[in-house]
Amino acid sequence: VTRHTHEFELIEWIRSIVGESPRIPVGIGDDAAAIHFPRDAKCLFATDMLMEGVHFRCPPATPRQIGRKALAVNLSDMAAMAGRPLAAFVSIALPKAVGRAWAEELHRGIHQLAMEFGVTLAGGDTNSWNGPFVISVGVIGESTERGPVLRRGAQPGDWIMTTGAFGGSLSGKHLSFQPRIMEALQLHEAVSLHAMIDVSDGLASDLHHILAESGVGAVLHEKTIPISTAAHDINDGQPALWHALGDGEDFELLFTVSREEGQRLLDRPPFDVPLAHIGEIVVGAGCVLRDADGRERVLPTLGWQHEL
Ligand code: ADP
Ligand code: MG
Repeated sequence: VTRHTHEFELIEWIRSIVGESPRIPVGIGDDAAAIHFPRDAKCLFATDMLMEGVHFRCPPATPRQIGRKALAVNLSDMAAMAGRPLAAFVSIALPKAVGRAWAEELHRGIHQLAMEFGVTLAGGDTNSWNGPFVISVGVIGESTERGPVLRRGAQPGDWIMTTGAFGGSLSGKHLSFQPRIMEALQLHEAVSLHAMIDVSDGLASDLHHILAESGVGAVLHEKTIPISTAAHDINDGQPALWHALGDGEDFELLFTVSREEGQRLLDRPPFDVPLAHIGEIVVGAGCVLRDADGRERVLPTLGWQHEL
């Protein structure tokens, strides 16, 4: 009974910090949320689960950072489709040992980022147990008039382009990254995006997803890969380039466009986040990395995968 009282008090508190949205006439407090889709838009849905001990440790991550990240990874998926996010749903398994204040901090982190992107927290599920903390967030969004951008549209001759820089995310960026929603929407308006993905597993690994889905190959130019300062700062004997290609959790955009439109983006960037041209799509399969002297080597599917 006590647990239940706490659960409902927490939900009432969450409800009290969430504002009204004309698109969402029914949100927290009913059995299901109701969302208006007035236009001929496609409904986009993404969901991701974060588990204590696998995706983060708490501490050093704070509940506010974890909440923020749990939403941010889903917004990044929405960005990868060039969609507009509308509503978020939060399902949590709280360890019995954490108190109400901890759960509130978690939701503050979610709510703060949600407000930045005009997303309404529209529902969820709250449970507690004698286990580690688990959070699963789902985001509903809509495609723009141009439709969603998929992984499967890359064509031979396309430029491969990225936002931001890569590698070393675990030293901090993975908890504070800015989902590239605005950038994706601006790109979608400025050019014809042939294929796009957000880099969560790693640049090489996620590029391979685009290649496999599109049935094409790629050549990457080693010296053009944007390497983050965090990747340069790692002292583990591995080259910074290796970190840029292999590390996960950068949550940058990786996309392909025609050569002409790619050049136009570089000449007149639509936003401040740096854009880079890192290679080309070619006929074939797999990816080669070309160094400054023209030497090529096969780029393995680096990056991290859950072992099943
Ligand atoms: P039901 O038993 O009908 O599923 P719940 O008692 O689980 O309803 O939840 C009550 C309301 O609170 C629902 O609208 C649900 O979507 C919302 N909710 C529950 N937990 C959360 C949460 N952690 N964040 C946001 N909304 C939540
Ligand atoms: Mg119900």
